[in-house]
Order: sequence, then C-alpha cells, then structure tokens
Amino acid sequence: MIFYGMPVFENIAVFQGDLFMVVLKFGGTSVGSPEAIRKLIGILGDSEHAGKVRVVVVSALSGVTDSLIGLARQAAEGEVARAALKTLEERHRKISHAFLAGTERQETDAAIKASFAELSRTLDGIGILRELSPRSFDYVMSFGERLSAALLAHICTAQGVQAEYLDARPLVLTDGNYGSARYQGDESYSRIRSYLKKHPALQIATGFIGSNAEGHTTTLGRGGSDLSAAIFGAAMGAKCVEIWTDVDGILTADPKLVKTAFKIDSLSYNEAMELSHFGAKVLHPPTVRPALEKGIPIVIRNTFNPPGGGTRIADDADPGNYPIRGISSMGNVTLVRVQGSGMVGMTGFSARLFGALARKGISIILITQASSEYSICVVVAPQDGPLAAAVIGEEFEREIASGAIEAPAVMEDLAIIAVVGSNMEHTTGISGKVFHALGRNGINVVAIAQGSSEINISAVIGAQDVAKALNAIHEAFFLAGVRTVNLFLIGIGNIGGTLLDQITSHKETLADQYKIRINLVGVANSSRMIFNPAGLEPKKIRGVLSSGDIKQGSAGTELLPLTLPEFIRKMKSFNLPTTAFCDCTANPDVAAVYAEILQAAIPVVTPNKRANSGSLDYYKTITGYSRDRGIPYLYETTVCAGLPVISVLRDLALSGDKVRRIEAVLSGTLSFIFNNFDGSKTFSALVREAKAKGYTEPDPRDDLNAMDAARKALILARECGMSLEFPAVAIEPILPPSCFKANGVEAFFTELEKADADFEKRRLEAAKEGKVLRYVSIIEEGSARLSLRAESPGSPFLSLVDSDNIVVITTDRYSKLPMVIKGPGAGAQVTAGGVFADILRIARTLV
Ligand code: ADP
Ligand code: ASP
Ligand code: MG
Repeated sequence: MIFYGMPVFENIAVFQGDLFMVVLKFGGTSVGSPEAIRKLIGILGDSEHAGKVRVVVVSALSGVTDSLIGLARQAAEGEVARAALKTLEERHRKISHAFLAGTERQETDAAIKASFAELSRTLDGIGILRELSPRSFDYVMSFGERLSAALLAHICTAQGVQAEYLDARPLVLTDGNYGSARYQGDESYSRIRSYLKKHPALQIATGFIGSNAEGHTTTLGRGGSDLSAAIFGAAMGAKCVEIWTDVDGILTADPKLVKTAFKIDSLSYNEAMELSHFGAKVLHPPTVRPALEKGIPIVIRNTFNPPGGGTRIADDADPGNYPIRGISSMGNVTLVRVQGSGMVGMTGFSARLFGALARKGISIILITQASSEYSICVVVAPQDGPLAAAVIGEEFEREIASGAIEAPAVMEDLAIIAVVGSNMEHTTGISGKVFHALGRNGINVVAIAQGSSEINISAVIGAQDVAKALNAIHEAFFLAGVRTVNLFLIGIGNIGGTLLDQITSHKETLADQYKIRINLVGVANSSRMIFNPAGLEPKKIRGVLSSGDIKQGSAGTELLPLTLPEFIRKMKSFNLPTTAFCDCTANPDVAAVYAEILQAAIPVVTPNKRANSGSLDYYKTITGYSRDRGIPYLYETTVCAGLPVISVLRDLALSGDKVRRIEAVLSGTLSFIFNNFDGSKTFSALVREAKAKGYTEPDPRDDLNAMDAARKALILARECGMSLEFPAVAIEPILPPSCFKANGVEAFFTELEKADADFEKRRLEAAKEGKVLRYVSIIEEGSARLSLRAESPGSPFLSLVDSDNIVVITTDRYSKLPMVIKGPGAGAQVTAGGVFADILRIARTLV
C-alpha cells in the first residue's frame, strides 16, 4: 500500500468554490441504525444542506470500534471469535438490506463479505503470531470506518444523493504514533485538495484513520473522526464543519451524569479545547486545532433533532450569561506526587521531572505545584501511573537515596473535574463557589490546578465522587434551573406521613416560586425501605411500604426489608449531591446513626429528641461534626415543634447576646391540663379529658412523668452551652409515687382520683393570690429544672391557652422585658411543617 507521491495540484477555482461548502461528520450513533441513516439522508437533502455539502465524514457504526478492539485482543490471546465476527458482519448486512435491493444489495453484500474475509485473515494472522502490534491494532480498527463509509456511499446513492466512497487513508498523512497518530497539516491539506479537485461528487469519507509516510494505516485516537472532519474542513477552507451526534450540542456538563445539563449556544475555540481536553467526549480535543488555525467554525448538532440549533465554536463566541461555560470530567486518572524538602529551590528539578516522563512518552494531563516548591503532582492516565512513578524514581535515584526527596507516591482511582469559561477571567469568587460546592457535599479535593489563562479551574477528586461533584457545581453555577434536594426519610408515622403530604401539596409552588425540588430517593417505615434515585412518588410510598407490593411503585424502584445499616449504605452509595437525611421516628437507634451520616457529609434533619438529649458526648460529637465540616444538622422541631426556638437562640448567640434564663412550658399535654385546671373539673377528670382528646400518650403517665418536657429542657440547656447530662435535670414529680405503681391505665386513674383533693388544695392556695399553676422548665445558671409553680398575674404564663407552648427568654439585651415565643408546640401539621422548613434550609445553604 503506497499512498504517497500523489501529485499535489492546487486548483484555485475548486478551492474557492469549496469556501461556500461545508463538511459534515456523523458519529457512530448517527450511522448506527437504519432510522439514524434516514435522518442523515434527510439532513443532506434539507434546504440548509442540499448542494452545499462537499464531504461527509463518518465514524464506524456505534459500538463497532469497541468490538474490533475486543476481537483484536482476543486474537492476540490465540482465539479468533468467529461468532462475534459473524454478528458484526450481520449488523452491517442488515443496514444494507434496510435500504438496498437487487444488484445494489448483491454488490454491497459482496463488498461487506470481502471486507470481513480480510478482517478474518488479519485476525488469524494475529492469532497465529499471538502478537498484536500497535500497527496491526490500528489496521484492525480501520475496518469500522471503511465499512461504514463504503456502505453509506451506496445507500446515499441509492436514495438519490449521488455520493462516492472515499478511503481517507492516503489523504490524511500522519506520523507513526499508532493509536493516536498526529496529522501533518500542510501535506494532508494539499493531498485532500488535489483529490477533491478530481472528484467533484459528494464524498463519503472515512473518519478516524490515516496513514504514515510508509503508507501504513494509522488511527487518530478514540473519537478521532471529529478531527478527520476538521482536517477536511481546513484543507478546503470550508465555510463550516458540522459535527452531527446524539446530543443537542456541547452541554454545560455530560448529560449522562447531570440530568439538568443544557446546551451551550456558542463558545470559543479555547473553551471548546479545555472542555474536551478534560473529558467532554462530545468533541475529540485535537479537532479544534485545524479549525482554529484556519478560522473555520465548528458546529455540533443533533442528528435526531436537527432544528435544535447546536453549539457553535468560533472566535466571535457570545460571552453568555453565566460566569462559566461548562464543567467536564475525566474519570479514572492516576496522580503521582513527588515531595521533599530537598526540592525547595532546586533549579532544574521540573525540567528533569518532565524530561524523564517525556522520554518515556508519558503524557501529562495536569500538573500542580505548591508555591512552597515542596511538592509537585502530575496526573497521568491510569496505565501510565506505575511507569511514571518508576521513571521518576530512576531519575531522582540519588536524591531519594539521600532523603532529599521522598519516593514518588501513586494515588489511583481519581478523577479530574474542570470548570471552564472565558468569563472567569473577569469574575471573582468562581473558585470559592466551586470549592464551597465540593466541600459542602463532603467531596475531598486531592489537588487543584488553575491555568494562568484563568479559563479553567481543575480539581482532582476521588473517582467515586464525579457525578456528585458535577451535579453540585452545576447547581451552584446554573441556578436558573431548579435546585434539588435528594431526600432520604425514615419514619412515616404521624409526622413523616404528614411531611409526605406537605411535600406533595407544596411541590408546584416550591418549583415555580422558589426553584426547589424535593427528590425523594429513599423512604422507610418500621419494617421496609424503598429506593429510587430517579425519585419516588410521595403519594404512593405509604401504600407500597405497608403492602410490600412493589407494583404500586414506579420503574427503577427497589423495595427491601429495613435494616438501618443497609439504609445508610444505600444512601451513601447513591452519592448524590445536596442530600438530606430526615429522621421522623422517636427511635434512639436511629438517633444513634446521625454521627455516621454526618461523617459521610450528609445533612441530618430531625424532630427526634433522642440524639440531642442522649449522652453529652454524643451531642457534642454530632454538633461538632456539623460545625467543623459545615454539614447542616437541623433539629428545630425537637423543641416546641415548628416554633422558632432553636434558631432564635442561635441567632441571639451569633449576634453576641447572652442568655441568662429560659422559662418555658414545653409539653403540650401538661400545658392543656394546667391551662384548664380552673376548679370546674377535678384534676383526674381533666387528665381523662386530655386523654379522650388524644392529647396524651395512651398511658397519660408517659406525659405526666414530665420526661418528654425534661428532654426538651435539656436540649435547650445544651443549646445555651451548658454541659449537662440528663440525670442532672431536676424534675419535680407532678404525680404521687402511688400513681406509677398502679397496674394499668384504669388503676392509675383510680390512684389519681385519690390525689384530686391535694391538687385542688394547691390550686386554691395559688388562686387566693390570683395565681395559677403551671408546670415550668427553668434553665439558668448552668442548671435545668422542672417544677409546678404558681404564676402571678401579669406573668406571660397566665395567657397560655389550649395546649400551647411558651418559651420566655431573658438575655443581656432582653433583660427588662424578656422575649416570648408562644404558640402550638405539638401536632403533626406544625411539626412536619418545621421539618419541611429545615429541609428547605438545606437547599438554600448547600448550593
Ligand atoms: P459520536 O459517536 O457522535 O462521536 P460521542 O459518543 O463521541 O458521539 O459523543 C457524544 C456523547 O458525549 C454524548 O452522548 C454525551 O454522553 C457525551 N458528553 C460528555 N460530555 C458532554 C457535554 N459536555 N456535552 C454533550 N455531550 C457530552
Ligand atoms: N470509531 C472511532 C471510535 O469509536 C472514531 C470515532 O467514532 O470518532 O473511537
Ligand atoms: Mg465522538
């Protein structure tokens, strides 16, 4: 195969004519099925393109290059996968049969057959030698594009679009770097020009492949058909190169990872280069160069949505409305770190380091160096990691032996995310926002690099965090979209169930007015748990969980028996950004897992008092995690339901005020009983009434023992900075001990009736002075106590009605007249409402 030595013949007339022509490139999915090919033919014939397309560059049918790679590797192991080969041949034949009949079909079938016979012989050769040289590898890969371009040329012609097959290998001259060969511009351009001069028909050309000076087949690197199109465009001085693919253009992020990604209308060559270099697969990175050199715009468009407009890459890109253009990611990279005190001030260190890597052909994706010069990190492809470390180890053998430098450290399973945009040059606070989004989502940053052009900020993170990081940053910058909180809820009784109702009924207002979306990902009742990262339907969850019938759920939903460790494991494994865990149980076991959840950087929202009124140690641990790492832990509803008590105390402290005393009625049940204890009924009759109204627990002693109020008092005391354990809260008993000895609720009431006279006596004594009885929690001077007090007229406690709570806060600033917070302090609606508000607070703080 000798391709060189072709006459180089410049024909100005053709060249100028081509200035008005365009080059189209269709990717694998755009030629992968008869439907796609129909779209392609439609595009060639539409009013925008008819008569204006000079060259169509095509990729192999989708998946074919991967199959060829698999076949070649298997052959090198000594096995030629005949069945796979047959399937591949059949796939091409099927496409041909969808369009061609009669002699055309026979001819094409024969051509396909001949190609596969040649491929089969090549694989046999590899199998016999058990050796897959880079050169043979490229040759095997070249079949994909050759088959698709030849097939498409036949199909187009048969469909009325006259076209010729063009094997681009002799035209695209490259070096001998098999696998990712570099094209040689001027020579390729003149070969292309002279070829086109002699072939005026529409050319359907192979993408991806070229040949070196010896005439051997080379490939331009995975995704390289885009580059082929740009080379043709540059050679012709085309008006434009259109890259047709399966997305609407270059989006703000990879749509497979970020559902809310949207199309970028225009971007500069540099921005396109940065985005594609750092993983935006939609464009093969070197594609930009020939287009940039010749000033030819590249437009990325969707074969399946031609009116979609696409993304235009050119010099005159509109600056756009956002401070960044897009975010891309490159999964699976390896970082090699060299550090040591001996590096400081050592001249020529970097030159030696990069020289050594370059000599072994190791390409460096990203470099960071701390200004202390104490360490340098280079990021390389995973397969290059061990070699890079060995090469560096060799180069600096002497320095390592002397201890001036440490042996290079290799970190695997990393990824790079890159935030790209020219507007960053003129805007401050971009990196703050990027790293805030990462930090708030608990994503550890291993290394950071910012080019001096300020058009790209890159961060190296754990590979497992890529989707989470992209989504978090995407939400932070493109806020025009709805912010999503991914919610995990445990406990769907009274409060949790009401919360689900509120989420359902408030959904539209939240989305329309506040641009917040609650995505319920996992929910559990006491026996089952259900998950769907795409979102559960709040209305259906209770039914599915209580019946255990998955059919009521939507597709992708998983229903399992509940175990707390598994619930947490799943929640972590989804690794979603802006996640919140909400505990609507009263269960101490659930409270005991908050530490683990906060440690995983997942915010916790809870009305469950158990965690904050448990051991002081645990309270300090979880509030400490939250404070130190900025992971929200929100528990407003643990005291007085939806009333703003905790947040008020926090604001007072933040603004430098000091709480001197809190006096409060913290139990709705006790509030109801004493508010109504006015002599019209006996005390026991009032308790019965409270029970009948559903204000008490099934056994009213669970309220009258004041434990619940004491827990709330402890939470408030701790909120004021007091280091108290629960037993230190002094509880004045309301009931005589005999009441607690009684067996069963009725026996309790009999005992309580015996105490009616005593209660009445206390009431009358107070009433004589115009006072009333209230069961009050008092927090002051490092202590908390609960006692039955006679309140004087004028006290805010007198105005209490029904089952309201009241919190009276005396501070340095509120010293003469205390601050009073009063209102319903229990009930599913107000509690769930408070929990809901805490969840929304997360949406507002995390993004
Ligand atoms: P083709 O076969 O047409 O060359 P590719 O698969 O090479 O198509 O590239 C298109 C794919 O690139 C899309 O399907 C999308 O998943 C992926 N992609 C990654 N990042 C981006 C991005 N920022 N914008 C658009 N697509 C992206
Ligand atoms: N077929 C080649 C690949 O899959 C080239 C391309 O599609 O651009 O990498
Ligand atoms: Mg591609």
